[in-house]
Amino acid sequence: MDQFQSEEACADHLFHSKWPNGFICPKCSHRHFYRINTRRLPLYECAGCHYQASLTVGTIMEGSGTTLQKWFTAIFLVSRPSTGISAVQLKETIKVTYKTAWLMLQKIRHAMSESDASNALSGIVQVHDACYGRPYNITHQTHPEEHLLLVGTTLNDQKEPTYIKMKLLTQAPKERRIYPAEKMSFASRWIEENSKVEFITERLKPRKLKIGYPIFKKANAWLNDTFHGIGVRHLQAYLDEFCFRLNQTLDQKPIFQGLIQLCLSSQRITYKVLKEKGKRVRYAHMIGMPW
Ligand SMILES: [Zn+2]
Repeated sequence: MDQFQSEEACADHLFHSKWPNGFICPKCSHRHFYRINTRRLPLYECAGCHYQASLTVGTIMEGSGTTLQKWFTAIFLVSRPSTGISAVQLKETIKVTYKTAWLMLQKIRHAMSESDASNALSGIVQVHDACYGRPYNITHQTHPEEHLLLVGTTLNDQKEPTYIKMKLLTQAPKERRIYPAEKMSFASRWIEENSKVEFITERLKPRKLKIGYPIFKKANAWLNDTFHGIGVRHLQAYLDEFCFRLNQTLDQKPIFQGLIQLCLSSQRITYKVLKEKGKRVRYAHMIGMPW
């Protein structure tokens, strides 16, 4: 909050991260500009071709009517290790509507999911099963609010995790079994070729063999404590958020700076697209089709 105490300070930060070596016109690469201050956020007009560049184009904030200060505060609150923030808490803290708070958080999560999608597991990798929601139900059938997932970890020579992913199965199974097709799809999507991969997906295998299990338990507790549980529509985005913070920490990178950079280099996603995606997942889940 000290660093970003005014709208001007936030705009400055955006300017320097967008053009670290000074303004360059995105159309003609000219370096001189006029600053236009007639709108809420300044525009930068190229002195060569008169193209008007906006600070938020090409960031998750593009098209948003919310102030930069509120955005930066939200990003800061999401980056607090192991806690994050719910839409209800964010709404109270930065004084926006629930819908705005929810959408801001989903946009931030979307940036984290995109970042995860560009990082594969590699080297020594272990993948094991886990179950979110009602994990203590002992029958063989799955409960509608229970979601199987695969937890993949890159391990160092001491068998400690250095990168982790938690991905929902792409299809809701009727039984609590992970089918070979799911393992193959996980491997081809998330693991680099030529990695040394061990799968432990039998439910009854001792949990102590499943290296990512304690981390999954933490994610599980976080989802339940902070959000009182999450339905399947957006569950993947929350898992990606949890893993993003953890992976930044494992990599000894500062979470806030990493997340700001990510939010400034990710394309925005709209409310409509997010809602439709959630609906599609929910429907596919209901009828047992892949999504
Ligand atoms: Zn230009």
